[in-house]
Amino acid sequence: MDLGINGRKGIVCAASRGLGRGCAEALAVAGVDLVICARGREALEATAADLRAAGVAVTAVAADITTEAGRAAVLAAAGPQVDILVTNAGGPPPGLWSDWDREDFIKALDANMLTPIALIQAVLPGMMARGWGRVVNITSVSVKAPVGVLGLSNSARAGLTGFVAGTARQVAGKGVTINNLLPGIHATDRAVALDQGVVKAKGISYEAAQAERMATIPAGRYGTPEEFGAACAFLCSQHAGFIVGQNILLDGGATNLSM
Ligand code: NAP
Repeated sequence: MDLGINGRKGIVCAASRGLGRGCAEALAVAGVDLVICARGREALEATAADLRAAGVAVTAVAADITTEAGRAAVLAAAGPQVDILVTNAGGPPPGLWSDWDREDFIKALDANMLTPIALIQAVLPGMMARGWGRVVNITSVSVKAPVGVLGLSNSARAGLTGFVAGTARQVAGKGVTINNLLPGIHATDRAVALDQGVVKAKGISYEAAQAERMATIPAGRYGTPEEFGAACAFLCSQHAGFIVGQNILLDGGATNLSM
């Protein structure tokens, strides 16, 4: 399917690895010129070089997107025309409700709620003026089914979800859509880190921890960054203009919901 976005300009945050990279790859194949960021320069530059093989322009900005300076650097590299924004950042660490103090919450809110909101606020005026825009936020399955050990993530994602619910409906009339993609377990470094958390908490082997988590997924496996990226690219496509303010689960059926 031609996604109808060849020649568009996009930003994909936190894109040197994992789900962000999957989104950047799918958008590059669809012909979108990209600005991508991550903190580690080496992996980021390698990803940018891979993406350029699709024939698009890719600017790599080594920056922490959760800082004001990082966001400014990414937005400056993108310039005035941003047609597509994919927000993403590393997820907060797991733990118990009693582990976290105010600073931990502020850090999680900054990374997974206030950063995407700031980026959305920065690009919306231009998108609305041009009459076309697509924003996809990478959030989490925890929005629909909070994960016990991910209290920081549950809190921050819920805040972003609330902001998007109202904002998406305020800007849809200007040709701009905002939606959230909710990953369940995907085979990325993040999933490995969470599996290792289970190893530590339960004193079982890594293989046993992985098998335990896979057994919770009706599809019987972890999702891939490629599948995730394809869904993201469709939401960013010309064909997705009527999908507004949705929270779309990609979890292999793990969350047992009918709506
Ligand atoms: P990942 O494999 O660990 O990759 C994270 C990517 O983000 C890397 O490119 C990393 O590069 C970059 N990054 C992290 N923090 C950053 C920051 N502050 N500024 C700029 N770049 C940053 O993670 P993932 O699995 O793709 O997860 C992406 C998001 O989805 C996370 O928020 C995660 O919580 C959420 N999620 C993932 C899963 C899953 O199963 N994978 C499930 C639910 C939710 P640098 O480290 O070099 O900055």
